[in-house]
Amino acid sequence: METRCVFCTEHPSLEKPTLITDHARIVGLGGIVDNVSTFFRTCPQCHMVYRYQEWQAGLHNFNDHTVRTLELCIFLRHNLQNHVSVSRAINSLEGLREVKYPSRDTVLHAYCQFEAMTSHDYVYSCINCGYYPPVVMMDLHKKGVFSMAVSDIKDPPEQFKGEHNIEEFWDSVNLEMIARGFVQSRAKNPLAVYPSFDRWAPWIGGHTRKSDIVLNTEYQKLSSAKATAESELVMVTEERLVDELRKQKVGIVRKLCKACNIDSKGSRDDLILRLRNEMKNRHSYDKVFQKIWGASGGWAVIACPHGIVYSLKFNLRAESPRDFADLLMSWKHLPNVSVYDFARGLTTHTNLWFPDVMPFQPNEGRLAECTPDNITAAQKGKLEVSLSWLLEKKVNPDPESHPTTGSSCHFALHDKFHESNTKDQRDVLRRINHVPELQGWLNSQVVEQLFGVMKKNNYFLNNMAPSTHVFMMRNIIHHRNIGTNQQLLDQQLHKGLKFHHMHTIALNEVGQAVLSEYKKYLFIIHWMK
Ligand SMILES: [Zn+2]
Ligand SMILES: [Zn+2]
Repeated sequence: METRCVFCTEHPSLEKPTLITDHARIVGLGGIVDNVSTFFRTCPQCHMVYRYQEWQAGLHNFNDHTVRTLELCIFLRHNLQNHVSVSRAINSLEGLREVKYPSRDTVLHAYCQFEAMTSHDYVYSCINCGYYPPVVMMDLHKKGVFSMAVSDIKDPPEQFKGEHNIEEFWDSVNLEMIARGFVQSRAKNPLAVYPSFDRWAPWIGGHTRKSDIVLNTEYQKLSSAKATAESELVMVTEERLVDELRKQKVGIVRKLCKACNIDSKGSRDDLILRLRNEMKNRHSYDKVFQKIWGASGGWAVIACPHGIVYSLKFNLRAESPRDFADLLMSWKHLPNVSVYDFARGLTTHTNLWFPDVMPFQPNEGRLAECTPDNITAAQKGKLEVSLSWLLEKKVNPDPESHPTTGSSCHFALHDKFHESNTKDQRDVLRRINHVPELQGWLNSQVVEQLFGVMKKNNYFLNNMAPSTHVFMMRNIIHHRNIGTNQQLLDQQLHKGLKFHHMHTIALNEVGQAVLSEYKKYLFIIHWMK
């Protein structure tokens, strides 16, 4: 605890403690302790106020009036990992202890403040794959949304290029959470963060990203019909939306038709066809979209095949391959294989965006050249493209190659044959089944499981204010990543390797776990294990 001012050069002693209240409460797992006194001290020179924010006694001081035990905070953290919201956990405690706990909102705010003041590194990296996974799986967690009228978001300044300072943005979200203790409501919080096109950064771990400046070009979705490539992107999203429509009950589709003022009679296919035509009009498109997807655009997620999340991007508008391109192009090393339902859209958009680099190559990210023979072979399941550098790094790495594989190839593939992809025959050359090294190893269940887990949190995350939603999501996924990494490590232990704990494990220069050191050789688990 400070006894002297840390800001003034002579570090003067602080003044005598002043009582704030003798009615503060300590809220813990065992119940509540009332009539606790809290104090502050000030610096005689600069008048800086020093509050009690010491953790060694096992307490977290929220706002000088309510104090939480660290045990309660950690208990809530574990509950969240098990999809039990803060309010449900407190309801249980209240029932058990037969005492009235503070309002659920206050408990949530205190928990967010606790997490914001904990020094998490949010490294978002797998101990097998390292900071730069060679293979990634990408998908949209589409029901993870918050209510927000897109029309409330202002257009960004004209000179804006889609670049965001990731540290600055997330620091500002953290600050909002910390300040929450000292204001009556979010509306009165001068540090509250609101969604905007020019200040809304994704999360990418510090090692994985190229720099603190990351891309989020969502504002360009606004004027998307401009270029042909962009109209293709809109089309891709539209097709996905139509696929979603097909899964809806006919009653919902009928209601949507009514809401868009179009004929609501006829079969489901008739209705969808009409809606589809109507969606060419931006306004109806937004309406259909909001109905099906909720108010905002869901989370774009990039994970490694072990289910560790590397990047998260909260979309304000409908998903497009652009969202994944924004993330990948903010990475230091583009993965060699990106698995995504709309691989074609991703390639078109990214290669047109960076025409001098053409990130997805060779063959525009397809596994083989687009010849009639290759396409026929692929259709018959007879095409085999071995990517042996996935198993063993190239002895002579390509120029500007991936550090783990030594290859400079970047493929955009898909694992299931998505309906909309059948339109382009050449898409058959993007199936992961053609790659023997990936077949059998790449387990789409791992990522489906991740999304299943994320869905279970919708019931509380989706009711939160946007900044709380994104703060909590990044935090919950961080703790999940740590748990998954520990499991991966434990799996190696069962294979007879020496005991290591996550905190003590050494990482090599690309962030892979080093299990033992013999002479000058480092033994790491092969990332594909
Ligand atoms: Zn001072
Ligand atoms: Zn991994």
